[in-house]
Amino acid sequence: MSTFQAPKGTYDLTPPRSAMFLAVREAISAPLRDSGYGYIETPGFENVELFARGVGESTDIVTKEMYTLTTKGGDQLALRPEGTASVLRAALEANLHKAGNLPVKLWYSGSYYRYERPQAGRYRHFSQVGAEAIGTEDPALDAELIILADQAYRSLGLRQFRILLNSLGDKECRPVYRETLQTFLRDLDLDEETRRRIEINPLRVLDDKRADVQKQLTDAPKLRDYLCDACQAYHEEVRALLTAAGVAFEDDEKLVRGLDYYTRTTFEFVHDGLGSQSAVGGGGRYDGLSEMIGGPELPSVGWALGVDRTVLALEAEGVELDLPATTSVYAVPLGEEARRVLFGVVTELRRAGIAADFAFGGRGLKGAMKSANRSGARYTLVAGERDLAEGVVQLKDMESGEQSAVPLAEAAAELAKRLG
Ligand code: ATP
Ligand code: MG
Repeated sequence: MSTFQAPKGTYDLTPPRSAMFLAVREAISAPLRDSGYGYIETPGFENVELFARGVGESTDIVTKEMYTLTTKGGDQLALRPEGTASVLRAALEANLHKAGNLPVKLWYSGSYYRYERPQAGRYRHFSQVGAEAIGTEDPALDAELIILADQAYRSLGLRQFRILLNSLGDKECRPVYRETLQTFLRDLDLDEETRRRIEINPLRVLDDKRADVQKQLTDAPKLRDYLCDACQAYHEEVRALLTAAGVAFEDDEKLVRGLDYYTRTTFEFVHDGLGSQSAVGGGGRYDGLSEMIGGPELPSVGWALGVDRTVLALEAEGVELDLPATTSVYAVPLGEEARRVLFGVVTELRRAGIAADFAFGGRGLKGAMKSANRSGARYTLVAGERDLAEGVVQLKDMESGEQSAVPLAEAAAELAKRLG
């Protein structure tokens, strides 16, 4: 392994590609910020207990994927594998739900850690933008979140994504279904681990990706046939609101999602250009989670969208993001005096809000002009001794190639004018 290699399953974001990640985070969060969601940031680690209870002892995330550690002081911590449990914990700690303004709407952006088998689109460190609406049971809230995610993806120019939708029922109807499903599954030809899963988390078996398992599941009892009237009506309302908003979705009976805390509405965003790691985001309603972590009853709904896979999806579709060039003006000084003078102009430009950069290191004209080109700057300022003696700088339009002498004192104003 090379000395400079990032740890297994991780990768660095470096320019220019890193700009896409920033743009994706920005695009996903923009619709949330415009819809009453406030920014929340929580620690990168929590007490392991929070995830064990909040994500679920029977989930892959907790049993296999969590990075746990014991501190020198003896605390059992886990690097956060997901955002929802932390955000709910933080909201409870800050009593946000008691401020008399439900739902508490929050959004977040950050790094998450799962000990997984690394492959394309699946990493041990990845990044999500998420949203949670805490404390209200209202189908319009579920619909709002799905509509906002759809809007975010569309604003990025993504088209080949689909929305899968299901209802997982609630504490009234799900236990009945769970038992019926278990009875069905126990008769199938399944391996030891899957048989264990039937007992602890049977709905997860429906989510099994293997073809031989899926084949046996064709006649599995469907949760839809077991939903109670309240869940049925709730789900119909979510569907109607999405349809009215012009957001297309597919009903997916088998969509159960990997976390224990989901109830009623669950959904996933999948992208068809990503191969087997096709989920770019997912979420749902988690009415029981607050009580599971020791809080009051707070029906809630949320989602998390994966930034890494969204970038891969954009690349798969060949979407070119409209990323503004980072530098508008590039200054090339020739000689000591010009260095001082042009550095002053660059500072002035920056203070005026114009993105400017400078040829550092006293390089020759040729090398410096190469850097100017690479920077993507629209204009270059060049000055040597003779220019300064005449009180001018050379202003070059990098698009047209035109060059003209501009009085030094007016250079900044002239550039501001030209850049509009
Ligand atoms: P998968 O079924 O692919 O394992 P998941 O159900 O575990 O996904 P969630 O916990 O719902 O995923 O996380 C939401 C989003 O975060 C996913 O849709 C995906 O875009 C992203 N994500 C999850 N795990 C990873 C990972 N290991 N590497 C990169 N992105 C990830
Ligand atoms: Mg997973």
